Amino acid sequence: MADHKTREQLIDEKEKMRQKFHELEACRYEFVSIQERYNRLIESAPDALVFVNPESKIVLVNAQLEKMFGYSEQELSGKDLEILIPERFRKTHHKNVSDYFSRPRVRPMGTNLEITALRKDGTEFPADISLSPLQTDEGLLATGAIRDITERKRAEHQIERNYHIQKVISAVLKVSLQPVSLEEQMDSILELILSIPGLALKPKGYIYLVEDDPDVLVLKAPRTIPDSEQSPCRKVPFGKCLYGQAAASCTTIFTDCVDESHEMRDLSKLPHGHYCVPILSGEKTLGVINLFVHEGHMRRQEEDEFLTAIASALASIVERHQVETEKHRLMEQLAEAEKLSALGRITANVADEIRNPLTSIGGFARRLQKKAVEGTKEREYAEFIVTEVTRMESILRNVISFTRGASPQKELFDVHDVIKEALRLFEERAGERSIIIERSFVEIPNIKGDKEQVQEAIENLFSNAIDAMPAGGTLSVATGRKVVNEQTYVTVNVKDTGKGISEENMNKIFEPFFTTKVVVKGTGLGLSITRKIMEEHGGFIKIESKVNTGSTFSLYFPFS
Ligand code: ADP
Repeated sequence: MADHKTREQLIDEKEKMRQKFHELEACRYEFVSIQERYNRLIESAPDALVFVNPESKIVLVNAQLEKMFGYSEQELSGKDLEILIPERFRKTHHKNVSDYFSRPRVRPMGTNLEITALRKDGTEFPADISLSPLQTDEGLLATGAIRDITERKRAEHQIERNYHIQKVISAVLKVSLQPVSLEEQMDSILELILSIPGLALKPKGYIYLVEDDPDVLVLKAPRTIPDSEQSPCRKVPFGKCLYGQAAASCTTIFTDCVDESHEMRDLSKLPHGHYCVPILSGEKTLGVINLFVHEGHMRRQEEDEFLTAIASALASIVERHQVETEKHRLMEQLAEAEKLSALGRITANVADEIRNPLTSIGGFARRLQKKAVEGTKEREYAEFIVTEVTRMESILRNVISFTRGASPQKELFDVHDVIKEALRLFEERAGERSIIIERSFVEIPNIKGDKEQVQEAIENLFSNAIDAMPAGGTLSVATGRKVVNEQTYVTVNVKDTGKGISEENMNKIFEPFFTTKVVVKGTGLGLSITRKIMEEHGGFIKIESKVNTGSTFSLYFPFS
């Protein structure tokens, strides 16, 4: 007979089943909520997480990892972890995984576990990874927490570079205080710039400075580069090639390859680019730093800033040298002027001492000349003495005038009177050489000055004009008025049609003792005296001259 359950039994069983069902339901609920909590935990982790089994297969990843690497969970699930590592690091990867599972332990971040990670798109990034073992029902797993440290690395590099830059700048300042030549300082500074790690520069560069020629760069450092490479670019005019352009435009010029802007590209056949940084003092270019970079190098703001800082440190060094050189030059000039003034005083004394005996010799020689019979040796000797004494008297006059320390005796006078008196003295000499004298006088105000000195200045011009026309010509003297820089001047122009003055001599004619007169020897003091007189009268002298055509000397006397 079938074993029928009683109704009570069935009710009891049903109750038990219902209870079981509730228990199961509670279990399922608990399981789901644990799983959800677990998932939330994984997803809320700040780092990208990957769970790997001992076979290096990916069991689970979180959303951060998907985002970081560009894969979906499905794409990664069950794949070898090496998918997240660049090819070149895969060789040792499996051994590392098995080593870890043989001795599983917690390895926190920052314990030298920096890796290079590979994204789905093939790009790489530096990452820090921490590892910890995780025991699960499916066995032991390794949990890897991965952090992208690109920014940290960049900041570290930046700090390192800044440190080196600071070091270099303080070293540059130290070099600037060393008592060595400017060239040696430039060499040391160039070496310092090229020593900075991470600056992406080739270990090669030049420093150019502007010297006497204001628009030309002159190579200063390094002094050790081979002549073959150095000579074509030792002197570079502003505007030529990249560094000439940087000098002319006062801006940094950058290029990442050898292109047409490299006018001197044959010098370095290897591929390269350049940073050409001007060394500036305000708007003025003092030089250029020319550095080589690797081809394809990307211009970086921090490099620009660093090189500009170095260029400005260099500018102060160059300026300091210029000031020192100028100071040295002025000191030498002062010493020379003191020497000259002492010499001048001695010369003036000697000239004064000689003047009286010379007057006696001249007087007696002239008497002898008159008394001696024409054609005799005595007459010839007397004439010779007279000529030489006259010359010595003129030299003496000039020397005394040049070394004269006294200030001018000023009075108001008509400059025409002085000109007429001077012309009277030269009429005979001019006539002997068939020189025509032309006068052009206009109405002018009286000037205030030392009459004797002004006459001397004009006489010097007449004398030179006559000497410049040995074969005759025209000596024109004209007066006038001119306004220069809002100041009105009375002018005296002395014009000749003589041999003129060469450009080369133009800079020298006012130097004391400069003379080109060899036949009738000159003292070379006339123009120096004339200029000195003009300066003492608050005026100046101007020249226009053309070789074989003639010269015009103009004296400018101020009046108010
Ligand atoms: P000096 O007449 O004794 O040579 P100066 O100082 O008066 O000395 O002149 C210096 C030089 O300037 C002259 O030797 C001459 O070469 C040049 N010079 C001056 N005036 C003239 C002129 N009018 N024409 C040509 N050369 C001149």
